[in-house]
Amino acid sequence: MPDFKSMTPEELAAWCKDQGQPAFRGKQLFQWLHRGVTSTQEMTDLPKAFRAILDQAGGVRFPTVARKQVSKLDGTIKYLWRLPDGHCIETVLMRYRHGNSVCISSQVGCAMGCVFCASTLGGRVRNLTAGELLDQVIFTQKDSGLPISNIVLMGIGEPLDNYDNVRRFLTLVNRPEGVHIGMRHISLSTCGLVKGIDRLAEEGLQITLSVSLHAPDDETRSRLMPVNRATGVEALFAACRRYFEKTGRRISYEYAMIDGVNDTPRHAALLADRLAGTVAHVNLIPLNFVEESSLRPSPHVAAFQRQLEQRGITATVRRRLGSDIDASCGQLRRKAMQAQAR
Ligand code: SAH
Repeated sequence: MPDFKSMTPEELAAWCKDQGQPAFRGKQLFQWLHRGVTSTQEMTDLPKAFRAILDQAGGVRFPTVARKQVSKLDGTIKYLWRLPDGHCIETVLMRYRHGNSVCISSQVGCAMGCVFCASTLGGRVRNLTAGELLDQVIFTQKDSGLPISNIVLMGIGEPLDNYDNVRRFLTLVNRPEGVHIGMRHISLSTCGLVKGIDRLAEEGLQITLSVSLHAPDDETRSRLMPVNRATGVEALFAACRRYFEKTGRRISYEYAMIDGVNDTPRHAALLADRLAGTVAHVNLIPLNFVEESSLRPSPHVAAFQRQLEQRGITATVRRRLGSDIDASCGQLRRKAMQAQAR
């Protein structure tokens, strides 16, 4: 079955020609799919015979809402989508003054094993296709009725562990015939896969790279993030330097503050040493409570931020959105899986 939604207009045109159809149908099909139609019947300017060909080839596949939660505090909407094969993924719509931002998942589950993260508890089930990445944007926009201007690849999964599909998604969502979101309005967050960062640097995209750092030293970072045991902090910072040299884009470092683990003045000093002389931005995140873990949020966020700023490093504290609706990574999917198992 052709995966229509993962195809570019040019690929769809080639497919149409193979079916004995005019190539311009490719662009029409792309436009319909990217508007979030759920059946070929909605494609009213396409001939019936062509729609029948599409249906025979598998028709339109799309996610359905398995659960939806709306925050009473700030209007954040969290979706649990059911994919055509039955697996569930999360997408979060966040409302900011500068526009609406959607946080999308890149995989069903995650293989990275970070000890503070709910998304990785059941491991990685499979990669999402480019079309499934895109559907999160299209159907969140459609269901909520809210226009989306920014995308963050910061939901469940490790985007650089699904490189090809994520790369293809970036191309698709950027196309003027479709959703048309500019690269500067897209952020990609990684736990620090060095090969992936280097590959991305070569592409020279204008997206923002966020690196989930969480610790400036190997001892602390390897304890929190198994991925660090293979490469180490030194190699990660070297890759970040190369990324900046190639793209000129400032890197954003995510730092979840965990009580007694990575929040001491020593950690702040080390972090400042590491980032001195680089163009960086540190985003301090109060740890979100995960039931399965004994880690606690740090009470020292403000002091940590001050210490970084005294050393000339830009650091902000992330505002918590949707705290009344389990809006942080993996928690809704986790709950749904547990409910199913009971
Ligand atoms: N795999 C990618 C993207 C998904 S995680 C990455 O690691 O960046 C999105 C962000 O949420 C990461 O910075 C991750 O470290 C962070 N995160 C995960 N669990 C968290 C928790 N309990 N509290 C705060 N941040 C968390």
